[in-house]
Amino acid sequence: MELERLLEIKFGYTSFKPGQKQVISSVLSGNHTLAMLPTGTGKSLCYQLPGLVLEGHILIISPLLSLMQDQVEQFKRFGEKRVVALNSFLSAAEKKAVMDRLSNYKYIFISPEMLKVPFIMKRLQELTISLFVVDEAHCISQWGYDFRPDYSKLGELRGKLGNPLTLALTATATKKVRDDILNSLGLTNVTKVESSIDRPNISFQVEGIPDYHDKEKRVLELAAQLEKPGIIYFSSKKAADQMAELLIEKGVCRTSAYHGGMDQNSRILIQQQFIHNQLDVICATSAFGMGVNKENIRFVIHFHMPMQMESYLQEIGRAGRDGLPSVAILLFSPGDETLPIQLAESELPAEQQIDWLFNKLLLNSDAEASKLKPELRELGGFSEQQWRLVERFLEPMPQNKIELEKLHETIKAYIRERLTIKKNNIYRMKKWVESKYCRRQAVLEYFDEILVDKPEPCCDLCGLDLQDYHVRSRAVQLAENEETWQQYLANLLIHSELRE
Ligand code: ADP
Repeated sequence: MELERLLEIKFGYTSFKPGQKQVISSVLSGNHTLAMLPTGTGKSLCYQLPGLVLEGHILIISPLLSLMQDQVEQFKRFGEKRVVALNSFLSAAEKKAVMDRLSNYKYIFISPEMLKVPFIMKRLQELTISLFVVDEAHCISQWGYDFRPDYSKLGELRGKLGNPLTLALTATATKKVRDDILNSLGLTNVTKVESSIDRPNISFQVEGIPDYHDKEKRVLELAAQLEKPGIIYFSSKKAADQMAELLIEKGVCRTSAYHGGMDQNSRILIQQQFIHNQLDVICATSAFGMGVNKENIRFVIHFHMPMQMESYLQEIGRAGRDGLPSVAILLFSPGDETLPIQLAESELPAEQQIDWLFNKLLLNSDAEASKLKPELRELGGFSEQQWRLVERFLEPMPQNKIELEKLHETIKAYIRERLTIKKNNIYRMKKWVESKYCRRQAVLEYFDEILVDKPEPCCDLCGLDLQDYHVRSRAVQLAENEETWQQYLANLLIHSELRE
């Protein structure tokens, strides 16, 4: 069946979004494919549709549990029930039930950790995997902003599955990261579908603001003036809460905070209220946005500077999905780079913590030394995220002291390297903030792209007028209506003259 017809019958869409058809055609012609398509362009369809044509199973590796759940829901909306997500959300009993019936599922979502489990791999080896999909493929590269060490094993795991046809999907990856994806997965002869990361209908504005207090004042002003709905991003939950309270107190707009510190039900409720236009503005941390398909977001403000250009683009990319003019505003005060640096540092264990831990391990008796005891986490003051990294290096535990000492050095070198990469990303972001030439051009250069058509309006450095994004006053709207009315009369007259 023709692809367009399949699209209409099965998904109810009348046309493909840019890039989708090239990716799908490439996959269906049996080519390994690397697709870089901006967020919101419908990457999921690039494996959903081929699944209707290909005979075997579609295995999708996805790094985030919440994202996986969203994707499973998306399938169900299209009436596809042969879909399952294998992740740590499943209880032991559920996992067993799924594994017993694995061959009944056409689409199998799996986290990279699960894929490593020998018994799961064995079951997957018994199936015919017709498409191996790596979602958020930039997580493979250590140069990627969201490097997931588990992802770096995917090439090897793909090998164990007989190197099936592969589709790697990402929204934002520099050329270096894209090359890394292909090397790491062992892919040669690859079709690359790389659409521009540019979103011409989103304009950029960076504003230098003297201090935190003035930033709050500026947000109050912007939230009152700009056409809504909009999102204001913060790097701290507390700042998001405070700003939401302030906006409500001053009666500026209908708003709520949204962050990972809130319970799941409140988060779902707030998301729904925003989608259904019962809230105008969301004061959020980066926890907000994934799976929120709201077309008419008119502005995205960053109260704090993001940690890297990739996340910045993802976050501002939630604006203007309907193609209408939208604006991305970043507020910057002197010294603002310290917060992302602190965040980067807190994501990794400190060298002193690692030294402390290895001292403890080296002092252990042989019987104690075989396992990493969980109570060490609390004693050493490791956060959950930091402890995950420790576990990854120390499971299985080295068999002797020499190996343990070697590992001590390896883990410290790894932490140093990750921190350097993260800090470089922050400095590059700051450089962009301080840019003296077209911001759009600088963003594209970051992703090794050349700006061909500069849209109008473009950015503050190309003469953007923020007033164009203000709520149109009642008087202006009336004047515009009047103009249309006069135009209509004039047209009527012209037509009647022509007929005469
Ligand atoms: P991404 O992963 O690229 O951010 P999704 O796969 O979540 O995007 O899709 C974003 C939205 O676009 C979803 O609501 C999806 O149903 C919709 N969508 C996908 N393909 C099309 C299409 N061809 N026409 C219209 N809407 C589409």
